[in-house]
Amino acid sequence: MGEMIEAKEWRHERERMVKGQIIARGVEDQRVVDAMLRVPRHVFVDKIYEHQAYNDYPLSVGHGQTISQPYIVAVMTELLQLKPGDTVLEIGTGSGYQAAILALMCKMVYTIERISALREQARERLEKLGFTNIAYMTGDGSLGWPQFAPYDGIIVTAGAPEVPNALIEQLAEKGRLVIPVGSEFFQTLNVVTKQRGRVFRKEIFECTFVPLLGKQGWKE
Ligand code: SAH
Repeated sequence: MGEMIEAKEWRHERERMVKGQIIARGVEDQRVVDAMLRVPRHVFVDKIYEHQAYNDYPLSVGHGQTISQPYIVAVMTELLQLKPGDTVLEIGTGSGYQAAILALMCKMVYTIERISALREQARERLEKLGFTNIAYMTGDGSLGWPQFAPYDGIIVTAGAPEVPNALIEQLAEKGRLVIPVGSEFFQTLNVVTKQRGRVFRKEIFECTFVPLLGKQGWKE
C-alpha cells in the first residue's frame, strides 16, 4: 500500500482506535497493530459513516452487510498468526477492510464475496490504495477456492452453522482456520487446525456476525 496523503485527523483517529480498543484489550501482535495503524478504515465505509469509522462498533456497508468492529478484525487477524510468505483465503470480502489488513501481513490474499456489487466496490477501493496482492471472486465461499489451495490461513467473516468441510480440506497442514460457528444470530469464534490429518478445534469467545449463506452455510 502506498503511503497516502490524508488529513492528520484520520491518523489521530487510528491511533486512538488502536490504543483504546485493540492494545488495551490485549492484542499483542505488533504486525497486527502496525497494519491497523496503516489502513485508512474511513475509506471502507460510506461517506455518511466516515466520522464513525474508527469507533468501537460494526457499521453498515449496505446490502444488509457490515464491516466488523475494529477489535474483532484485530483478534481474528492475530489468531491467524500470519507470516510474510503466507497465502490466505478470506470468505466475505464485504467492505474490503479485513482484506487490506491481511494483504499488509502476508504474500497473497484470495477473497470471496457472494454479492458482486460489494466485491466490485471493495476491489476498486483496494486497487486505488495500491494493493496488488489480492485476488477477488464472486461466489459461494462456503465451498472455498480450491484452485489456489492449500491456504496457510482461512478467515470466515460471516457466521456458519458448522465448519464447512471444503474449508478444512483447503487448509494447509499446520494452517489456521478462524471462523464464527453457531446459530444465525449468535456464534462462538473458533480456531480450527489440522495436523497429520487430524482436525483440532478451539473456542475463543462469543460473537455476532451476519450469516454465511451457501451450500455449506445457511440456506439462501
Ligand atoms: N470482512 C468484511 C466483513 C464482511 S461481512 C469487511 O472487512 O468489511 C460478511 C460478508 O460475507 C458479507 O458481505 C456477505 O455478503 C458475505 N457472505 C455471506 N455468505 C457468503 C458466502 N457463502 N460466500 C461469500 N461471501 C459471503
